[in-house]
Amino acid sequence: MGYGHVRLLAGAGAEERREAFARDEEVLVDAARQLDPGRLRAVVAHWRHAVDPEGALDDANACHARRRLHASVTYEGMVALDGELDPEGGATLLTALDAVQPGGPQAGDGRTPAQRRADALVELARRALDTGEFPDHGGERPHLTVRVDLATLRRQPASPAGELEPTGPVCAETARRLACDAGVSRVVTAGDSQPLDVGRRTRVVPPAMRRALVWRDRGCRFSGCDRPPAWSDAHHLVHWADGGATSLDNLVLLCRRHHRAIHETGHRLRGVPVRPP
Ligand SMILES: [Zn+2]
Ligand SMILES: [Zn+2]
Repeated sequence: MGYGHVRLLAGAGAEERREAFARDEEVLVDAARQLDPGRLRAVVAHWRHAVDPEGALDDANACHARRRLHASVTYEGMVALDGELDPEGGATLLTALDAVQPGGPQAGDGRTPAQRRADALVELARRALDTGEFPDHGGERPHLTVRVDLATLRRQPASPAGELEPTGPVCAETARRLACDAGVSRVVTAGDSQPLDVGRRTRVVPPAMRRALVWRDRGCRFSGCDRPPAWSDAHHLVHWADGGATSLDNLVLLCRRHHRAIHETGHRLRGVPVRPP
């Protein structure tokens, strides 16, 4: 019997349940010898509900009151999360995280389980924002906004970083990807922060062209990837800021992970012709 087992039994035998525990001790200790701590926890919880339902409700209410989530921007621009959810909230989150990564990792997916979970949480948030069902915020549906100078999109030397609200500066290639057609709001400036294009909530690729692209590509075009269109952005083979056309022969569907791999980590698309601008 390990420490976890002993702790569960000690909790079960607390003062207010001493009589019931003395009566059932043999059965509970026997269960502790045979079960792992997770399954023993369930057995003890069921026993607890049977002998002390009011105490069990008090405990559940105390757990609910302890729920918390801290999310803060670090000096690197990361967002640090720390928190605890009650059983219902936790079950909701775990179910949604599972639902958003169906079938587990694909072959060749080098991400750790923690990285996949982080991506799934971000995907959940993005899908929620994409529905556009949240109340207006200053006349706009809330969504990610990237601010970027045209010189940055064109990779001109000494151009400023892009800016994401509220986490701050992002490197040029991230700004190029977000402006490519990532479905985020973009504010493109030219020099003196003069807004050139305020693409609020409109994708670069018009809906009819995206439908045609989805019909042609069926999902992510990265080799070996089977992510469906809902996971995918339309990527310009030659970026529109470099003169690339927003036309079917200059677009491919890429899932969020592979869109990032192409822009930020220099991966290449196999079997997809890259045309000059
Ligand atoms: Zn792209
Ligand atoms: Zn992909």
